[in-house]
Parts: sequence; structure tokens; C-alpha cells
Amino acid sequence: MSLFLAIEGIDGSGKGTQAARLHAYLMSKGHRSALLSFPRYQQTMFGQKVGDFLNGRFGTLESVHPLLVSLLFAGDRFESRELIQAAMANYDVVICDRYVASNVAHQGAKSSGTERKELIDWIQHLEYSIYKLPRADLTLFLDVDVEHAQQLIAAKSRRDYTEKAADLQEADANYLRRVREVYLELSSGAQWKSIHCVHGSHVRTIDEIAAEIAAVVDASLQRSP
Ligand code: ADP
Repeated sequence: MSLFLAIEGIDGSGKGTQAARLHAYLMSKGHRSALLSFPRYQQTMFGQKVGDFLNGRFGTLESVHPLLVSLLFAGDRFESRELIQAAMANYDVVICDRYVASNVAHQGAKSSGTERKELIDWIQHLEYSIYKLPRADLTLFLDVDVEHAQQLIAAKSRRDYTEKAADLQEADANYLRRVREVYLELSSGAQWKSIHCVHGSHVRTIDEIAAEIAAVVDASLQRSP
């Protein structure tokens, strides 16, 4: 049985960096580790449309109903389900750089109260019950405030789905604040672990954060049968 991990956080919080670090760490310890990244912009039919959405081809962020947007992100994972299942069958640890919670946080951010709750329930039902995607054993939430995350984004070198410096979602700080708010709500749940990446006024170093994550995952591996 593999340990199925998700790494979550707002854009620029360090998910890609830490997913790669964790993957390398686990392999250095002799574990078979697989690393997946969602959306799979180039590999799935839905993923390509996610890229189009993020580049504004369907209109502004607010003009496309979040329920319809959620279908694209969920469809990308549905198309990837066999890949996920194969990874879980063949590897000790499967790391997902973004998973279902990204859909929940990003679409849930566009409403509040009862409407948000209903949308969140709808997305989770779609992904877990209808599409039968596996639930993560552990979700690591990289918590970075929007200001610090945007500083990291500004320094980000290369993007493979947009030529714009920041895509539609990243450009909107207020939107990212609401996304973080949903993540903070989710992160109080079971099977979640928050990694506080900002201490005082500084983002902790990549090494410090990687060491904390490695310790959390080592503990999970020791607990899992
Ligand atoms: P995400 O995948 O969450 O959007 P990235 O891992 O791509 O974030 O990180 C965004 C940028 O910030 C990258 O250029 C990365 O090298 C850099 N970065 C990530 N974590 C840190 C950190 N703790 N300190 C400094 N720079 C970081």
C-alpha cells in the first residue's frame, strides 16, 4: 500500500519546489516515489482547456461560473485516474503537486457562506464519489501569505502554459486571499498538516521547509503498515 500525499497552497507558496525536494529525499532514502503534478496541462484534454481558462480564453476569472470551471480541473484528474492508480500500485509514496483540494479552494474562493459550502460539497462528491478518485492519506498545506507568495511568483522563471508573467488567478491578490482562507478552513481537517512557511517577516528557506516536510512524511511512513 502506498502513501498518497497531496501538496497544497496558494500560487507561489512553493508547492512545485517542495514536491520535487520531497520526491528526491524519499528516493535518496530508498523509497520508490512517484511525483505527479496537476493540472496536467499538456497531457490531458481537460488539462489543455484548464490552460486556456487560466490564460483568459473563456473570459475573465469572474465571468466563468466556478461550478463549470471545477469540471475542467476535475476532468483533468478523471483522465489521469489510471495513472494515479498505477502509481499507487507500483510506488511506496505518490506525491501530487496539487490535488482535489486545489479545485475546492480555488472555486470555493469565489463564493461564501452556504453557497461556498454547497459548491465544496459538490466538487468533493464529483471527484471522490462520481469520478472515484482516491483521497489523499495526508495533505501538506504550505501556508504563505499572499504578499510573500507574490514576491516568490515575481521571481519565478519559466511557465509552460502561459507567456504572461502571472496568469489570471495569480494576478488577483484579493482572489488569492480568499483561496488561502478556504485552505485555512480545510487545513483544520483530519489528514491535513499545515507547514508554516513564513516566520516573522521572512519566508523560511527552502531547506528548512523541506526538512520539516521530510520529518512529517517520515513519521507518516512509520505509522503506515
Ligand atoms: P508553486 O508551485 O506553489 O506555485 P514554486 O515552487 O513554483 O511555487 O515556487 C515559486 C518560486 O519561489 C520559485 O521560483 C521557487 O524557486 C521559489 N521558492 C519556493 N520556495 C521558496 C522559499 N522557501 N524561499 C525562496 N524562494 C522560494
